[in-house]
Amino acid sequence: MAYDKSIAAFEEAYKVIPGGVDSPVRAFSGVEGTPPFIERGEGGYLFDIDGNRYIDYVQSWGPLIFGHCDAEIEASVIEAVKRGLSFGAPTIVETELATEIVTLFDSIDKVRFVSSGTEAVMSAIRLARGVTGRDNILKFTGCYHGHSDSLLVQAGSGLATFGTPSSPGVPADLTRHTLLATYNDIASVSACFEKSPEGIACVIIEPIAGNMGLVPADEAFLEELRCLCTNHGALLIFDEVMSGFRASLKGAQGISTVKPDMVTLGKVIGAGMPVGAFGASAEIMAHLSPEGPVYQAGTLSGNPVAMAAGLTSLKKLKSNPSLYVALGTKAKKLMDGFQHAADAAGLPFVTDVRGSMFGFFFSDKPVKNFDDALANDSDTFAKFHKGMLDRGVYLACSSYETGFICAATTDEMIDESIKTAYEVMAEITT
Ligand SMILES: *Cc1c(COP(=O)(O)O)cnc(C)c1O
Repeated sequence: MAYDKSIAAFEEAYKVIPGGVDSPVRAFSGVEGTPPFIERGEGGYLFDIDGNRYIDYVQSWGPLIFGHCDAEIEASVIEAVKRGLSFGAPTIVETELATEIVTLFDSIDKVRFVSSGTEAVMSAIRLARGVTGRDNILKFTGCYHGHSDSLLVQAGSGLATFGTPSSPGVPADLTRHTLLATYNDIASVSACFEKSPEGIACVIIEPIAGNMGLVPADEAFLEELRCLCTNHGALLIFDEVMSGFRASLKGAQGISTVKPDMVTLGKVIGAGMPVGAFGASAEIMAHLSPEGPVYQAGTLSGNPVAMAAGLTSLKKLKSNPSLYVALGTKAKKLMDGFQHAADAAGLPFVTDVRGSMFGFFFSDKPVKNFDDALANDSDTFAKFHKGMLDRGVYLACSSYETGFICAATTDEMIDESIKTAYEVMAEITT
């Protein structure tokens, strides 16, 4: 495949945008080559400015569960645009989307919309601190919760790829309130509670981690985590910005029986428009301004165009109950195919699937936490990524990311991807 136009575009971008990209993971730093510049998408396909076509398993890093240019979502967005882009005043569509979410999630009585996952989590943490009157929070190594200061500690994917455990510019005074535990290791959580006589405001977790590769939490671990939080008066936050409407219609909460105190959402909730949300019981949410003293705001929060996209997408998801089974079947087929290709080439390989989310590691042991993930063979991944890209299969450009199936991903696309994986795996072992 030729990438001449993309290479030139990347050079131009580099002159005026740091690293040539507006989010670090897009820069292809962990893999070979430079990023294709995208011209357009269509269903399950992506087209770059050199005219190359790719089967898209990134889907804007999760949001596009109906693929690119879904006709109904597109129509609702255009209709909303014609009425005005933003008002900074209440609109009915916010209540409609909120009602859909509240009906879907037992753990949510009230929800507030923001413009990104980062903002959703940042606001949820502030609310948890405000409600409990405690400063300390607990997160897990390898889990990513957006780039706000308190949470930028040992945070997976982009940071794992770049080998930056935390970032300059984040005051140590802030991160000293962020305790770190090991994913799927309850003893490490107990130890944190013991070390914190002043108490912990909240424990935040991706119940299905998607930012250190796909690493689901064990059900028993989540149950014990719920108990520890309840016993210590800490709020349990499920960060479902990625897993929400992806692992199942109710995210991890459609799979696990464990109930969090607060939930953060993003990605699919905006269907490709900038939307995030955080929700909890009416009692917890009553602490939020203007009902309560915890301040949080946003000029473009609940933006009517973004809300229209989200509402149409959610209604489509709800009206198609068998969709997640179909997406899960395709994800499993793809991962089984990759596994057979790796086995045939003699490459150590492990996979996992949760609904429309899939993940794989070039690793000879199951991955349960961030250390396991870091032990993957990222050089082999880089070669695999390049080989797949050159043959028209667009996978996330880091071994610490999750892949996605969308409603527009066909069985033919899966078959073609598997066939390609056989070729590439055979090539990189010779
Ligand atoms: C993507 C993601 C975020 C951050 O969302 P942005 O919209 O990129 O700010 C937070 N938490 C999780 C689990 C995510 O996957």
